[in-house]
Amino acid sequence: MSAQILDGKAIALELRDSIQKEVAAQVAEGKMPPGLAVILVGEDPASQVYVKNKKIACEKAGFNDVSMVLPAETSQAELLAKIDELNARDDVHGIIVQLPVPDHIDPEEIIERIDPKKDVDGFHPYNMGRLATRLPELAPCTPHGVMTMLAKTGIPLRGLNAVVVGASNIVGVPMALELLNERATVTVCHSATKDLPQKVAEADLVVVGVGIPNMVKGDWIKDGAIVIDVGINRLDDGSLCGDVEYDVAKEKASWITPVPGGVGPMTIATLLQNTLQAAYGVKA
Ligand code: NDP
Repeated sequence: MSAQILDGKAIALELRDSIQKEVAAQVAEGKMPPGLAVILVGEDPASQVYVKNKKIACEKAGFNDVSMVLPAETSQAELLAKIDELNARDDVHGIIVQLPVPDHIDPEEIIERIDPKKDVDGFHPYNMGRLATRLPELAPCTPHGVMTMLAKTGIPLRGLNAVVVGASNIVGVPMALELLNERATVTVCHSATKDLPQKVAEADLVVVGVGIPNMVKGDWIKDGAIVIDVGINRLDDGSLCGDVEYDVAKEKASWITPVPGGVGPMTIATLLQNTLQAAYGVKA
């Protein structure tokens, strides 16, 4: 039987709609719109696309878009000074620095300079620590967006065997923490993991964020498992594909996310959700 599709695009649109309504209500009461500053350093083409999409989403939601593009030769000190300036502005509630940054910039120092209350990417060690201690404030957008999608399946996560493939600070590690916090039994796999096919075969829920096209084979998937594909890979013919062999996996899974139109749209919607929370202390 073919899997049900977890339609991230539709779920994200619903979420963005409720964010827009919340902003309109708050502004009608005389509050400032949420202000989001997306800082892009340099001209990485993929980052330019992501930043443009964030800008459009931001404007549609009624946010104040404070995005900026800084030249590739911007120094560490100049970028830190820009963050200090944004940290101090009352009309800016969220600050993100689009990654990757040019090689001469140390991303850790940059992330740690963002006021944790304005860290709407959720990458600051303070926010990662809050998530790890089951006291989340601003959680990383992609894994949190996945949790919003999983809620739509109606399947309780408690007690499920969850396997997360990929262990980055942006995707795998916070994803594992989110699932652990919901009392799934979580296995985290990475480049040194032995017998990945066997690990995946035991999973009731598998989340893959590696960055290798079709690396998780469809026939590894357990019958009836939920499959979440975070990967976004551009192939030579210009098309996009995920990290999971979709056509085969969808015949085994109970639920599956497509690429594109799965996790990607949820990431942006969750960024808006985090910014709304940073501005007004409410969650849409
Ligand atoms: P990273 O390169 O930072 O991390 C990749 C992870 O995969 C690492 O933990 C690495 O292990 C692990 N890995 C690499 N090779 C293997 C292997 N053969 N077997 C098992 N694990 C392996 O990537 P990101 O986490 O930033 O991104 C992952 C993917 O998700 C990319 O395709 C990216 O484009 C996509 N992405 C999508 C988003 C969305 O909104 N949908 C948002 C963010 C990312 P190790 O730690 O040992 O090196």
